Amino acid sequence: MNHVTAEQKKEIDEIVNEQALTSRFTSVGLESILYQPIPVLDHGFIRVVDYMGTDQSIVQAARVSYGRGTRKTSEDEALINYLIRHSHTTPFEMAEIKLHVKLPIFVARQWIRHRTANVNEYSARYSILDKEFYLPSHNNIGTQDSTNRQGRGSAVEQAEGEEFVSMLRAASEQAHEFYRRSLNENEEGQPKSNKKRGIARELARIGLPLNYYTQWYWKIDLHNLMGFLRLRSDKHAQLEIRMYADAILEVLEKWVPLTFKAFSEHVLGGARLSATAVAFLRKQLAGQAFQRSDSKLSVREWNELAETFGFRSSSSNSLR
Ligand SMILES: Cc1cc2nc3c(=O)[nH]c(=O)nc-3n(C[C@H](O)[C@H](O)[C@H](O)COP(=O)(O)OP(=O)(O)OC[C@H]3O[C@@H](n4cnc5c(N)ncnc54)[C@H](O)[C@@H]3O)c2cc1C
Repeated sequence: MNHVTAEQKKEIDEIVNEQALTSRFTSVGLESILYQPIPVLDHGFIRVVDYMGTDQSIVQAARVSYGRGTRKTSEDEALINYLIRHSHTTPFEMAEIKLHVKLPIFVARQWIRHRTANVNEYSARYSILDKEFYLPSHNNIGTQDSTNRQGRGSAVEQAEGEEFVSMLRAASEQAHEFYRRSLNENEEGQPKSNKKRGIARELARIGLPLNYYTQWYWKIDLHNLMGFLRLRSDKHAQLEIRMYADAILEVLEKWVPLTFKAFSEHVLGGARLSATAVAFLRKQLAGQAFQRSDSKLSVREWNELAETFGFRSSSSNSLR
């Protein structure tokens, strides 16, 4: 695993050691991890390269204050809780974060759907991509899920998993050989053949598979970051993007601990219910016997409700 090279590490160390004075709000937690790569998957990472604002900036904006705007921590916490619970979102747009992300192309393809961010991607028209591709670990290789058509089911037998990884490795290496031969350039930047002139980078790259790594700088405000995290840390999201979301959640906790707490409480740990589900639960609380067939809920919604509230998911009529 080589998430960053020695040269890249040296550049990071140099910037970390630069000191600057500011009277802006700064986050002690985030400052402690600024610029440092947080490994994700086999070669990927996220690292915070810049940020604006803290929990205090949210409070300051919500109170439209002339000064720092903050009061006692308990009052600030109550205000942030209130804002999150009531979807009063604009104060959270006052804080922003800029991440450097190294991620497989198939993860990037899901990530880029979040349009409310600013992105600058590494250009493989201009530069040559490294020989870095993602291989899932054996315990993350599952069958096609039978109920969730988008998802991964239980783990496959070890032999089938090993065969998959070995075929994926061979295909990725072969694709890299194709890439280098097309460019007519070896890893040291020397021509592979003196008889060829080499194909343009923008064309040579098109034979690389989706597990190759790309990189980008990604800037987003806190409100939209929470939208991204709500969707991508959820168990319905693909495992690989979820691992990035989990790493960003750790960053969020360091950056804006009060917001993180309120977000975990009211959004990540909360539940969204349909009118039918609410009506059904009301009947339960009134002590009425219930069956799934009476609930008018689809099997999928019923199962989700059962999981959230801890009753048996099949068709049953008893609370656990
Ligand atoms: C589990 C899962 C499965 C998915 N499966 C698929 C799939 O099969 N196929 C597929 O194509 N995508 C799929 N997606 C992507 C999904 O449909 C969204 O495109 C993606 O999650 C980005 O969400 P968003 O639009 O809320 O985010 P953002 O683009 O960041 O937008 C945030 C919010 O801003 C507003 N907004 C942004 N742009 C506009 C606009 N142009 N017009 C109006 N409002 C706007 C909306 O309120 C939006 O919710 C999937 C996502 C998840 C999490």
